Amino acid sequence: MNKLYLELKNKIEAANSIIVFSHVSPDGDTLGSNLAISLMIENCFNKKVDSVFAGSLPSLYSYLPDFNRFKDVQTIPSDKKYDLAIAVDVASKDRMISGTVIFDNAKTNVNIDHHKTNTGYGNINIIDGEAACVGIILYRIFSEWNYKIPLDVARCIYTSLLTDTGGFRYENTGVECFNLAAELVKLGVSPMEEYRACYETKPQSMVQFQAYIVSNTLFYNNGKIAFAKITRSDMSKFDAIDEYTEGIVEVLRSSKNVEIAAILKETKEGWTKVSLRSKNTNIIPVVLEFGGGGHTFAAGCTIKKPIPIAFDKLLKRIQSEIPA
Ligand code: 5GP
Ligand code: MN
Repeated sequence: MNKLYLELKNKIEAANSIIVFSHVSPDGDTLGSNLAISLMIENCFNKKVDSVFAGSLPSLYSYLPDFNRFKDVQTIPSDKKYDLAIAVDVASKDRMISGTVIFDNAKTNVNIDHHKTNTGYGNINIIDGEAACVGIILYRIFSEWNYKIPLDVARCIYTSLLTDTGGFRYENTGVECFNLAAELVKLGVSPMEEYRACYETKPQSMVQFQAYIVSNTLFYNNGKIAFAKITRSDMSKFDAIDEYTEGIVEVLRSSKNVEIAAILKETKEGWTKVSLRSKNTNIIPVVLEFGGGGHTFAAGCTIKKPIPIAFDKLLKRIQSEIPA
């Protein structure tokens, strides 16, 4: 067995208290992966696991098995010492927000991730920057452990795969994704049911909010750059919650001309949360300059400035990436 997978198995067997972390602004990969490993540990090792998120928990993913087990990290005492802490899909430690100290205080901490920008902040680091999603890495681990994967776990891994490949469409979609999808379907997953649950259950106000934001997009450099702003007042107009912005930036990128698309969203603190997507440009250097991270064509950062200032800075920086 892979040495790291065995080490993780030994740590789980020896642990009396286990916590699994998702990143702030959780997406389908971090939530699906969290549930997958939490349920796997409870099923196969008969241990109790705390599954936690940071920020707000998107109800878009409430169809996932045992979704109600998620606890807000703020409900865990910051001085609680776990035997084992596991982070899934957490590109940098600070993305656990107040969970970072709990992660650091654990007897052993494990970092399972697929971001190329991950620095390897765990005692055990299982990182593959080429993996399409963390669910793929978990499936490799579970397969080597040689336990049968329950349907609930298979469904969680499927959501991780479905969402991080953009429905098997992004550049990260390869042979391993389709092989894994086939294995998951063999375990009983229904692609249609998961697709509908994941993408076709939006509240009406979310569809209308997204249309409004998209229709106010600003285009630069002959339409190669698309920037959309989301202020707190836009959000309150539609009673929008954080998860309502999910998927907007991909709509902007769907324009034929667009090479780089950005969403600039006002945070509760008045700062600017940026979601960036590109077609061919490596945008990692851009977000690293602003203290963020992510993948080659999908990355993000938070700029600690109000939207108008962040907008100008980011636009200038992105224009420098686009040939005239
Ligand atoms: P999104 O735009 O969907 O929030 O994020 C796209 C990708 O970039 C995700 O893989 C996400 O983990 C990463 N990302 C987004 N914001 C940040 C950030 O502030 N810091 C880091 N390190 N990664 C981020
Ligand atoms: Mn991911």
